[in-house]
Amino acid sequence: MMEVDPSLCLRCGACVGVCPSDAIDATDGYVRSNKRCTDCGICARLCPMGAITLEGKA
Ligand code: SF4
Ligand code: SF4
Repeated sequence: MMEVDPSLCLRCGACVGVCPSDAIDATDGYVRSNKRCTDCGICARLCPMGAITLEGKA
């Protein structure tokens, strides 16, 4: 499951648009993944702030 560091996240929305699984929610001002996340890593590579980490991965 991907995790977003809220102190780094700009809420730019880039990760939301790129997720192939529609697994990123940003409805309440915070960006976080939901259970559809497959840990594909696309969002983590895209994030301009390096705010996204994947559990068990760097
Ligand atoms: S791409 Fe990064 S900075 Fe932008 S909303 Fe997603 S986690 Fe936040
Ligand atoms: S790791 Fe992949 S499936 Fe999970 S939130 Fe990021 S882009 Fe979506």
